[in-house]
Amino acid sequence: MASRQIINFAPGPAKLPEEVLQKAQDELCNYNKTGVSVMELSHRSSDFTKIINNAENGLRDLLNIPQNYKVLFMQGGGNGQFSAVPLNLMNLKEGSTADYIVTGSWSAKAAKEADKYGKVNMVLPKQEDYIGIPDQCMWNLNPGASYVYYCANETIHGVEFHDIPETNGVPLVCDMSSNILSRPVDISKFGVIYAGAQKNIGCAGVTLVIIRDDLLGHAMPVCPVIFDYKIQAGNNSCYNTPPTFSIYIMGLVFKWLKAQGGAQAMAKLNQRKASMIYDLVDNSNGFYVSPVDVKSRSFMNIPIRIKNGDEHLEKIFLDEALKQDMIQLKGHRSVGGIRVSLYNAITMTETEKLAVFMTKFRNNHQ
Ligand SMILES: *Cc1c(COP(=O)(O)O)cnc(C)c1O
Repeated sequence: MASRQIINFAPGPAKLPEEVLQKAQDELCNYNKTGVSVMELSHRSSDFTKIINNAENGLRDLLNIPQNYKVLFMQGGGNGQFSAVPLNLMNLKEGSTADYIVTGSWSAKAAKEADKYGKVNMVLPKQEDYIGIPDQCMWNLNPGASYVYYCANETIHGVEFHDIPETNGVPLVCDMSSNILSRPVDISKFGVIYAGAQKNIGCAGVTLVIIRDDLLGHAMPVCPVIFDYKIQAGNNSCYNTPPTFSIYIMGLVFKWLKAQGGAQAMAKLNQRKASMIYDLVDNSNGFYVSPVDVKSRSFMNIPIRIKNGDEHLEKIFLDEALKQDMIQLKGHRSVGGIRVSLYNAITMTETEKLAVFMTKFRNNHQ
């Protein structure tokens, strides 16, 4: 596969490492001398069992997942987990209450969905714009909550937690869809972590769930069987046909990550990439503005406005970027502007090309 011209700064589905695509291409028609594609393998075959076990072991190794945690490969995406989390955990304690820390669109949507299944306590005061995380001394945590929920990285607003919230023993549930494996993380601090694959660890179709085993077996009677964590855990995520090809791709991404030096190496690279863009923004004399509080700025998704939201100029920026083969830089429709997504697969060289373009653009349009 010739090196690809296009630089894909998409927020998700996002860029995959070229080595992963190459490997998938090489094996596409004849996987491991089976004579068929992974897509055509039985999910009960020994070949596929190896694929799913390899993916799980790759992840366990990369994140040092303790033995008392299960790894599940589910479907329904991040939105599916907005429902699955309350369906499985809302009744953990009497009163069926859950704490939601809302710092952007995704956690807001999760809280809205959870409200169907129990009482949702909003931990933070309602915010006009999502541009930061209020100090923990201002949080209203309920010690009787079944769980505390938050989103580690708000993909649309570019607000990221750089510390893990303290919950005094209440199980912590985290949506890591857009920053899982971008840095090391202490799994033992969490009750549940979940992540849709299509941002940082694979292609759409599979959703990873990492769950402490004492939290299995509390699903509401109405919980759909395929969303029941205990049933999925008891069936090696094969209660029904899992998204076999997506799991295979995820396994290749984990192998690639290991070869790059794992989460530690990614953290260093991601910090360098993000700093390059933030520094450029902060030193642009207000030409570029990143609205997020410096303490909570995301290393993965950087929302930027040009000249305080000059939509005409922002459109020119996007058009000119496209001419330089840089795609998917448009901000989410709810916030506008530019959004630079710098997931693991985006290289330093690609980030430098964008930085050069941004500097030239500023010089030409200031
Ligand atoms: C993309 C995203 C979601 C939604 O994922 P779907 O797979 O489209 O349902 C949820 N949370 C975060 C943080 C996301 O980035």
